[in-house]
Amino acid sequence: MLRVGLTGGIGSGKSEVSRRLSGHGAVVIDADKIAREVVEPGTPGLAAVVAEFGDEVLLPDGGLDRDKVGSIVFADAERLKALNTIVHPLVGERMQELMDAAPEDAIVVYDVPLLTENDLAGFYDVVVVVDTPVETQLDRLTSRRGMTEEAARSRIAAQATREARRAIADHVIDNSGTIDDLKAKVDAVWEDLRSRAEAKAAAKPGDPAP
Ligand code: ADP
Repeated sequence: MLRVGLTGGIGSGKSEVSRRLSGHGAVVIDADKIAREVVEPGTPGLAAVVAEFGDEVLLPDGGLDRDKVGSIVFADAERLKALNTIVHPLVGERMQELMDAAPEDAIVVYDVPLLTENDLAGFYDVVVVVDTPVETQLDRLTSRRGMTEEAARSRIAAQATREARRAIADHVIDNSGTIDDLKAKVDAVWEDLRSRAEAKAAAKPGDPAP
């Protein structure tokens, strides 16, 4: 199994890249998506969150009011810790299940928005960074995601710089061109991932690292 960490700033094109890699056969693990799934209505995760935070964090339809939870935990480190104590192990379990279900020769791509910020490069065999000029990020976030320019700028400013991301990358995918340009770049990266996965599978367990 080849473990690939995929990261990039908000609006850089990470989701487009992970979709393309998934189309090639990668097993994509999206940490943010899993974090939402483990607290869906009817889950033990949601029951635990309600036991901790009360009914006030529920929406009328029974789903979790994420804005409400956010406003509680971002103002109080202890409450954030309590939330993480519930959610992190559930996310870890689900990730492990997905990994166990992946075939031995799988290329597993972890979509980790804060890989650089949380210093997680060491967990992966390969780090792929999607890199986009800030002006392009702003343009995509305002035109396609309906964010205000101010909100988009502050989200970008709260994340790692392009330089910090590039410094930990094995592959930098420049997404300043068209979607077709991006697809071609992803295809080239996929070829490299495949050869790395083959080399890793061929190396016998006791062999010295190359
Ligand atoms: P991320 O997951 O990194 O936040 P997305 O992949 O969702 O970013 O991309 C943000 C938006 O920009 C999406 O609507 C996406 O379709 C669009 N987008 C991504 N790459 C390009 C590109 N090269 N040209 C035009 N639009 C793009």
